[in-house]
Amino acid sequence: MEFRYLGNSGLKISAITYGNWLTHGSQVENEVATQCVRAALDAGISSFDTADVYANTAAETVLGEALAGERRESLEIFTKVYWPTGPGGKNDTGLSRKHIMESINGSLKRLQTDYVDLYQAHRFDVETPLEETMQAFADVVRQGKALYIGVSEWTADQIRQGAALAKELGFQLISSQPQYSMLWRVIEGEVVPTSEELGISQIVWSPMAQGVLSGKYLPGQPPPAGSRATDEKGGANNIKRFMRDDVLSAVQDLRPIAEDAGLTMPQLAVAWTLQNPNVAAALVGASRPEQVHDNVKAAGVRLEPELMARIDAALAGVVVDDPGITAQQTPATRVV
Ligand code: NDP
Repeated sequence: MEFRYLGNSGLKISAITYGNWLTHGSQVENEVATQCVRAALDAGISSFDTADVYANTAAETVLGEALAGERRESLEIFTKVYWPTGPGGKNDTGLSRKHIMESINGSLKRLQTDYVDLYQAHRFDVETPLEETMQAFADVVRQGKALYIGVSEWTADQIRQGAALAKELGFQLISSQPQYSMLWRVIEGEVVPTSEELGISQIVWSPMAQGVLSGKYLPGQPPPAGSRATDEKGGANNIKRFMRDDVLSAVQDLRPIAEDAGLTMPQLAVAWTLQNPNVAAALVGASRPEQVHDNVKAAGVRLEPELMARIDAALAGVVVDDPGITAQQTPATRVV
């Protein structure tokens, strides 16, 4: 495993970080979830990413159980706050002081730990003054309940404002968690340059475009049984933006490129995200342990410029890279 510093901090995380969105507490039985976590640990993954909202808190519980008994000092555990976890009420949402203080306590209980290594604002909250949010995060850090603070799907401007307030309050924003893959490159224009300037790393979600870049979905054919595209509990709905024949055909053109690099397609996809020096980790999901074994081999791989150019040529026309899209991730009002 390769380890990278998270932003301008002393925290090292595994370049492949295991994430449990849509799988734990939902698509995947708990026994298989535990096997995936075990496979991750065996492969040297030490960093784990979850959120209170995943499977409406069940994902944190499953991860907490799977990691119970592990040496805490050898793990980096990340979770997030913003979305409502219901049944709740008007304050069970967003980044108010009340929601942050209540949510961190719930997350720690479910994760069976006294602190998380990284606590992330899952989205930007337009209804709470940013000063209130950052003060609450500062207090969570001073209470020792989170060691570091990050954000997810914030625009470059939001990151800049948050980082400045954090500095005033005596702590630091060290990470940004956006979507990033060969197919989805919207952070390259603004979020990455701003983050580089401010000492913030990306830990990127859906590096395999939810499995699409594994090449297993073929144009004009039904998705394989048991895949995310068949998961009616949420997966099918989330992956559908990539399930177009033009995208799936272009992805098939990556197959010979992966072969020339001596990699599987999943490994090529994950390795591609790690070529960006501002990316500290690829957050990789898995519905079975064999996928973890496959994906971890992307750590430490260097892709030559000529190969990167071939990837760009294969995907020309289906890559999304408009930096303006990040702003659409900020909910116009809080969701309750
Ligand atoms: P990926 O792009 O890595 O997709 C993972 C899925 O792809 C797996 O569940 C599996 O689905 C399939 N897959 C994985 N490996 C292979 C393989 N070797 N061969 C074939 N198929 C494979 O990432 P996710 O979309 O799961 O996101 C990863 C993490 O990112 C999340 O767990 C979460 O931590 C974070 N995230 C954060 C968000 C945010 O807003 N901050 C939003 C979304 C995710 P299957 O087998 O079912 O087809």
